[in-house]
Amino acid sequence: MHALLVEDDDRMARALGTALAQRGHTVRRAARALDALRYVREAEFVLLDLGLPDLDGLELLRRLRTVCDAPVIVVTARCEERDIVQGLRAGADDYVVKPFRMAELMARIDTVRRRTGPHPRHPDGAGRIVRAGDVEVDTAGRTVTVAGREIRLTRREFDVLAHLAARPDEVHAREEILDRIWGDAFLGTSRSLDVHVAGIRAKTGRPGLVRTVRGFGYRLGGGAGPAASGERDEGR
Ligand code: CA
Repeated sequence: MHALLVEDDDRMARALGTALAQRGHTVRRAARALDALRYVREAEFVLLDLGLPDLDGLELLRRLRTVCDAPVIVVTARCEERDIVQGLRAGADDYVVKPFRMAELMARIDTVRRRTGPHPRHPDGAGRIVRAGDVEVDTAGRTVTVAGREIRLTRREFDVLAHLAARPDEVHAREEILDRIWGDAFLGTSRSLDVHVAGIRAKTGRPGLVRTVRGFGYRLGGGAGPAASGERDEGR
């Protein structure tokens, strides 16, 4: 397998590169986020350090996730629960804290590769068109049509809608959406999610397209025809 090793520390990169090579992987190392973005398309899996000189690793992870669906294992000294949760919510497949045992990391790589399988995944439904009633969300083309007519959403509004559309049968926690799209569920951006959801409902004219699950989060609405009044809520 071809690995992309994103690591700015030379000693760590050498140790990891050697261990990966011993297990038969080919390795491309990127010491900066910019290089990681350049090389990621060829990678079959990614090891990602979060402390990088040119861009925070979590931000890089979000960007990688928009262009590649290879498994990503975060390998970092950041060990706070909040860091780990943010890493996983931002799209990491696993999270390994430094210092780590090399054998354990290699076992985790095998596990992640088995779990993610030979078939490409579509973490944000990349390349898919999701339909809900007369609404079509094209996550690759980043367009939304309602009854065949294109609707203009802001970038963030689209990101929220695409995130829900990627797994249309699931309820998505507020914190998960905030971490994934705003980068932090703890920054007091919570209100801003509601504003964006309201924007999606108003602009599409389909209040049921995004359903509120009270006290938890949101999900994509089912047959989201034109609704006569207000939001449709479900659950409590
Ligand atoms: Ca580092």
